[in-house]
Amino acid sequence: MPDAREDGEHPELTALRKEAKKLNRQIEFLQRIVERNKSIIAAKAKMNEVLHTERAKQDSYMNLVLENSPDIILLFDKDGRFVYCAEVFLKRTGIKNVAFISGRHYREVFGKFIAPPLLDELTGAFQKAVAQRCSTVIEQIIDMGDGTPLNYKIHFTPMFDGNGALEGSFALFHDLTEVLKAKQNAEQANLAKSNFLATMSHEIRTPLNVIIGMTSLARAAKDIERKDYCLTKIEGASVHLLGLINDILDMSKIEADKFELFYTEFDFRKALHQVIDVLAFRFDEKNQRLVVKVDERIPPRLVSDEQRFAQVMTNLLSNATKFTPAGGIITVEARKGDEIEGGYTLEIQVSDTGIGISPEQQTRVFHSFEQVDSSISRKYGGTGLGLAISKRIVEMMRGHIRVESKLGQGASFIFTIQVKPTGAAADAAGSIDAGAAENPKSCETSQDLTSCFSRYRMLLVEDIDLNREIVSAVLEPTGLTIDEAENGKIAYEWFIADPEGYDVILMDIHMPEMDGYEATRRIRAFDHPRAKTIPIIAMTANVFREDLERCFDAGMNSHLGKPLNFDELVATLQQYLP
Ligand code: ATP
Ligand code: MG
Repeated sequence: MPDAREDGEHPELTALRKEAKKLNRQIEFLQRIVERNKSIIAAKAKMNEVLHTERAKQDSYMNLVLENSPDIILLFDKDGRFVYCAEVFLKRTGIKNVAFISGRHYREVFGKFIAPPLLDELTGAFQKAVAQRCSTVIEQIIDMGDGTPLNYKIHFTPMFDGNGALEGSFALFHDLTEVLKAKQNAEQANLAKSNFLATMSHEIRTPLNVIIGMTSLARAAKDIERKDYCLTKIEGASVHLLGLINDILDMSKIEADKFELFYTEFDFRKALHQVIDVLAFRFDEKNQRLVVKVDERIPPRLVSDEQRFAQVMTNLLSNATKFTPAGGIITVEARKGDEIEGGYTLEIQVSDTGIGISPEQQTRVFHSFEQVDSSISRKYGGTGLGLAISKRIVEMMRGHIRVESKLGQGASFIFTIQVKPTGAAADAAGSIDAGAAENPKSCETSQDLTSCFSRYRMLLVEDIDLNREIVSAVLEPTGLTIDEAENGKIAYEWFIADPEGYDVILMDIHMPEMDGYEATRRIRAFDHPRAKTIPIIAMTANVFREDLERCFDAGMNSHLGKPLNFDELVATLQQYLP
């Protein structure tokens, strides 16, 4: 038996106690390990959870991209079977459920709306992409079943896993229709412009040819009658050329959005008859009868842009006479239409018994540079701008224009404009002295002008020698004394040296050293009573409304457009030199 210890405990018990303590420590240690492992497992689970949500988030972003992409995106497995398709693909193809195509081969699905030859072409591109491990692109017009054939650029791209093994592929259908349409429009516009240039070149050369040819004929001609005949032809061709240039300028102003209206009060019937008077000789030449009917309810005076109204009427009437054979009838009818806020509508109809316009050509005649066919310009002249300009003017006057016609049975052009009653203030632009801006009445050429201005002295300011020479020569019979200054600076110096010495100043605008605006402003600012009153008449090739406004703003009294019309020049001088 073992000895009992002093403390009385049996040694075996002590040994057991020691053993138990050790075991306890080991258990505690193991428990700690278990706890640690537990928290590691929890942290791992947490991390997995985070990763999972992140992945889900990314997947949903990816889905958003796929679904909202303007391009149609389709995914296939390595055998070419559908694994994904964008919603828009289902919509276009009319396939109700994605389950219907999941797992099906792309040829089977595409075959529903793509004809076999096109399908083979697509398959070729698809196979090439896989075989060559790169993207392939083809363009095809495809109607996916919604009845709208669209021009697609189709990309096939193979996809590989981390080891480079083929995992699948995706197709991207990019709609090019709008881009191609825009390109086509640009090309058409370009073509129209080239045609226009060709027509213009022909149109400008024709009168120039007359001018040059008739000038040499006139030079060679011995008798005065022959010379006179040539001059009449030269005059006609020059007027035609001027009309042409004005049309082109109007059109380019319209295109640059710089076309403005200028409202004044005027006598409607008088304005209408002025247009008719200008064209009367053409009706006479072709022995055409003109019938004019004006609704009595249209008040004598109204507010609108008289010049632009006349421009529309002139084009419609000159078209009517141009496209109507000799002996035909042309009718102008003006009716008062609906009362509208602040005014009423005027409806004007110009009808003829001429060659007429076919229905498909009727839509085109209002486009710029369009004539019914290219032989028109050769046979009847014109550039095909008249109706395009008229349409823009009428629309700016808050109206519209249309045509009614049958081929071979005449045409009727009907347009409306909104006018204001008298008393309605003219627009801001109306602040110009309308009287001065108006074209002076053309003075009778037969009038005897000999020495009619012999008491007066004029300061002619113009930098181009030939222009000075022409003005001096043409005014020579009137007996007017003319001092010729080459620019605004000289003119100003001469004027301030002798303010009482001149009765009128004829002022060019564009000149070296000092232009006409500046010279006028300085003259007006000069401290002498005559500086405020001397009539200054602008003479310039700038004939747009804003040019006119600039002239008046600078202090000029009146304006003559270049090329100078000599009747107009004399009539204007007569206003200021009684
Ligand atoms: P422009 O007026 O610029 O000198 P244009 O008279 O040829 O040239 P538009 O007035 O724009 O041009 O007319 C366009 C086209 O419409 C004409 O060329 C012609 O083919 C057709 N057209 C216009 N008016 C008539 C009409 N009264 N009868 C038959 N065809 C017409
Ligand atoms: Mg015309």
